[in-house]
Amino acid sequence: MKQIKKKLILLMMCLCVTFGGAACDLFDMPSGDDSGVTESNSNNSSSDDCAHSGGTPTCTEKPTCSICGEKYGEALNHAYDVENIAWAWVDDGSSATATITCKNDATHKVEKTATITSEITTSAGCEEMGTTTYTATIEHDGTTYTATKAVQDVAVKQHAYDVENIAWAWVDDGSSATATITCKNDAEHKIEKTATITSEITTPAGCEEMGTTTYTATIEYNETTYTATKAVQNVAATQHDYDVQNIAWAWADDGLSATATITCKNDAEHKIEKTASITSKITTPAGCEEMGTTTYTATIEYDGNTYTATKDIQDIEAKKHAYGAWDSNGDNTHTRVCENDSEHTETLNCNGGAATCQAKAVCVDCGKEYGDYADHDVQWVKDDAEKDVKKCAAEGCNKVEKEFIKTVTAENQELMATNNAAVLDVAGCSAYESVVSIMLGTVSLGTNPSVIDLTQVTDKALHGVQTIILTVKDTEGETHEVSVPVTIVTQMVSTAQELYDITRTATDTTNNAIFGYYKLANDINCTAAPYWAGFNNSVSFDNNEIAGFRGTLDGDGHTLTGFIHANGLFGQVNFGATIKDITFVSTKNTGSATAVIGNASKGTTYENVNFVLYNSDGTKYPKSVIFAQGWANVMKGVTVKVYAGADSTSEYADVGSLFGNWHWIAGTTYADKYENVMVYCASL
Ligand SMILES: [Zn+2]
Ligand SMILES: [Zn+2]
Ligand SMILES: [Zn+2]
Ligand SMILES: [Zn+2]
Ligand SMILES: [Zn+2]
Ligand SMILES: [Zn+2]
Ligand SMILES: [Zn+2]
Repeated sequence: MKQIKKKLILLMMCLCVTFGGAACDLFDMPSGDDSGVTESNSNNSSSDDCAHSGGTPTCTEKPTCSICGEKYGEALNHAYDVENIAWAWVDDGSSATATITCKNDATHKVEKTATITSEITTSAGCEEMGTTTYTATIEHDGTTYTATKAVQDVAVKQHAYDVENIAWAWVDDGSSATATITCKNDAEHKIEKTATITSEITTPAGCEEMGTTTYTATIEYNETTYTATKAVQNVAATQHDYDVQNIAWAWADDGLSATATITCKNDAEHKIEKTASITSKITTPAGCEEMGTTTYTATIEYDGNTYTATKDIQDIEAKKHAYGAWDSNGDNTHTRVCENDSEHTETLNCNGGAATCQAKAVCVDCGKEYGDYADHDVQWVKDDAEKDVKKCAAEGCNKVEKEFIKTVTAENQELMATNNAAVLDVAGCSAYESVVSIMLGTVSLGTNPSVIDLTQVTDKALHGVQTIILTVKDTEGETHEVSVPVTIVTQMVSTAQELYDITRTATDTTNNAIFGYYKLANDINCTAAPYWAGFNNSVSFDNNEIAGFRGTLDGDGHTLTGFIHANGLFGQVNFGATIKDITFVSTKNTGSATAVIGNASKGTTYENVNFVLYNSDGTKYPKSVIFAQGWANVMKGVTVKVYAGADSTSEYADVGSLFGNWHWIAGTTYADKYENVMVYCASL
């Protein structure tokens, strides 16, 4: 279009140049936007100069000059007003004609049938038709002109309501709602529907939180039901229902603190915790062994009420027993009693100490005896003459377990040394099992006490008062030595001759000594020759301590009658000799060397001996009438009677001396011992 218009303007410029300025006024240029055109006009207007004038040219006729009446110039060309083309459209835009009218003469018209193009310039809406713009185009004078016509001829579309995206508009409380359905084609297209509302409590109210009601809005559209929901927290909260019947108490182990938790019955998450105040009381005092109990009471206040709970804790230290002293129960136990509680006793076995056979152990705790005696340390003790005793060796113990009498009843049994089958009376000793030996010193007398052979005792020094040792074994095999006192009688003397022989014959020729036990069988009178020699021993014994008579003369109560003569009966009695139970009667003193016993008596025992000295011939007894000299003699129960006449009716007579001289000083080994010695005489 613009291209066309420009060309037209250039053409008109050329015309102006040709016709001069006068004509130019006719060609007022429409105000336009083409500056080039304006410039052309201004540059060429001042130089025109017209000669003819007047007249009016037409499109087809030149003007007639008013001056000259001549046709001059040029006719006007048609000035078709393309600026104001009249377009005649059919209503539907499908065709149009353009009428171009000449400005010079409106009767001059050019009609042209336009060519039509069309374009939808406004699309159809859902309810409004769209517009088609038709363009009519013509060619005129080498230029193209157009006109347009808008025809609302595009059919409407259907609404496309978007049910997928319904907009629900709720009132806040959910009580009503509207649904807006918007057309996808045009958001201006909306359908609004008021929903029907139903509701349901979907979250019940809690104690503190409101519950939720879910409202459901429902609409019907196009035979379809659409719903939307809205949750509104509008259910009033319930109140807590704290369960004070079931308070949970949480105690510290030591009972010194506690918390109470009260839980809501509605919701166990709802809890009230309170720190309790604590009081305590000793409800069970401590015993000696058992701890005492403290009852702690926890107290809380809640909602104007007081709640308590208690907890017993065994937290009081036990006392220790306060035991007193141990006290013996007499049954090897001792008991001590607690001073805190007499029910508390402790009984233990006694202990310590050491038992002996005489005393029980003494308990180190209670100080009383307990247990058993210790076994006796029994041993045979055989140092007693009477009996062997199996007794306890412990010092101070009197325990005798067994005794073995090792003496016999027979105090002194006389056994003849000549008897080879003597019966040894052992009655009185304890029963024994067997005989080990029967010994006299080193001489064995066999093993049968009922038949002992005393002839085995050939040494007459072993005769006399002896002890035979009967060694036996008891039922336990223990050996005991039974002492059997015997008197082994070497010879019974019944005649002066026998006495004569005995006192003159050494049995021990080495020592020139006479051993043996000689016993008078009866009174012997040896006053008649030759037996008066009984008091007249002619054997000469050495004056020592081993020679002479060293045996025993046992008078057995008999009387030996003779008279004093040289060397007496024995000549010499020496150590070990015994003279006993005899009465010596001297009927007279011969007046020579005189003595009853002998010229010496040493270490001899006189026992129960009577000396009776008569004077039948008027000769006075001289000195040393019993023995001439002596020492270490023992005299017991010796009586000497010296008569002046021939019998005991006469008066006592004077006597020189009785026991000779050489008596040692008292207190020495050789001193004589006088005991109950009676001397009857007129003077001594
Ligand atoms: Zn003219
Ligand atoms: Zn014309
Ligand atoms: Zn629509
Ligand atoms: Zn609650
Ligand atoms: Zn106690
Ligand atoms: Zn004790
Ligand atoms: Zn003992």
